[in-house]
Amino acid sequence: MTKREDICAAMVALVDTGLNRGASGNVSVRDGDHMLITPSGVPPRDIAPGDIARMPLAGDGEWEGPLAPSVEWRFHRDILNARPEMGAVVHTHAPWSTVLAVARRPIPAVHYMIAAFGGADVRCSDYATYGTAELSVAVLAALKDRAGCLMANHGMVVGGESLTKALWLANELEALAHQHYHSALIGGAHLLNDAEIEATARGFSTYGAKARGVDR
Ligand code: 13P
Ligand code: ZN
Repeated sequence: MTKREDICAAMVALVDTGLNRGASGNVSVRDGDHMLITPSGVPPRDIAPGDIARMPLAGDGEWEGPLAPSVEWRFHRDILNARPEMGAVVHTHAPWSTVLAVARRPIPAVHYMIAAFGGADVRCSDYATYGTAELSVAVLAALKDRAGCLMANHGMVVGGESLTKALWLANELEALAHQHYHSALIGGAHLLNDAEIEATARGFSTYGAKARGVDR
């Protein structure tokens, strides 16, 4: 599959797994010194590979394609520029992540899988209007040393070496949000300590194809 086909399949998969609905969310993939990014406001099943926009990573909104790029092109561009280890960025309004994001609650170390995000927590960014440069600044700050964050009163964003890894992280972040919300209802999770998270992170360096970011 081409990168464009992978992006189309990812958008459909995000809807099919309940991580997005309607035309919400967007996906980008690094393509040399450009990024490929979903068009704005198109329901996933209506996006054809030729509809994916192409934008220079050094640019300020220039795009090629029949359809305008996602309104969130700024934070996709800024993440891909600031984080050379990331090859793909996935933004969703996943239900449980968004419940925590509207309450502006970060996720602590409720489950060892949080180590997949690079530390003992997943932050929630400050709020800024969708599609703005301010939102990009807020998201980049919340992503420091992490592979994902919640976005205040909005949703979540993750970045991975590959699109396969980014989709995997999106699912894992939604699972952590689900666990944190529900454990809070029964008195709160017993949190893992930093040594326990570090031990998990060491194991992740050799565990599982998806955790290593390879496609199979
Ligand atoms: P786009 O359809 O322009 O990608 O916007 C969806 C969204 O989630 C905005 O934050
Ligand atoms: Zn959004």
